[in-house]
Amino acid sequence: MHAGRKRKYGSPLVKMKRASGELQALIREAAKGHTQECIIVTGFQGRPVVKFNGKSMPAARAVWILANGTEGIDGMDVCHRCGGGSGENGCINIRCLYLGTRADNAADMVAAGRDRNGDPRGERNGRHVLTEKDVREARRLYAQGTVTYTALAAKYGVTVAAMRLAVTGATWRHLV
Ligand SMILES: [Zn+2]
Repeated sequence: MHAGRKRKYGSPLVKMKRASGELQALIREAAKGHTQECIIVTGFQGRPVVKFNGKSMPAARAVWILANGTEGIDGMDVCHRCGGGSGENGCINIRCLYLGTRADNAADMVAAGRDRNGDPRGERNGRHVLTEKDVREARRLYAQGTVTYTALAAKYGVTVAAMRLAVTGATWRHLV
């Protein structure tokens, strides 16, 4: 009988700085781009950092290299289309990532209401799309268990990532 699963994603090797098979598995999964949904890294203190060929880098960058190789990556940032950052609660789905300049990256952060440390500023940021009222309502609706993040994102006109982060409290943390 045919035994064992064929190992499809054996290389290149991603060695984790904080040894975590879980994050490594998440990175490999994210690099495949099998889902349109954001893949959010949670449960790590600060930025989830991986070592790749001896260099430390954010998880999103490791995902990009796994999927596309290192060509053209020097001096460029791995940026997000979805409003997710690279830190904890950041998105690493390859479908959400693009290679951009530092200025592109900074513009993404402003648009997503994050600062350089990935900290959300909520409505006070001045460039919000969601309002406090929206977030409270979205959290209430989601708690009822009848709507998905995708449906809520469509309702409020934001990305699924932004919606998920707001509902889970990763952003708008100051709202109780
Ligand atoms: Zn995303």
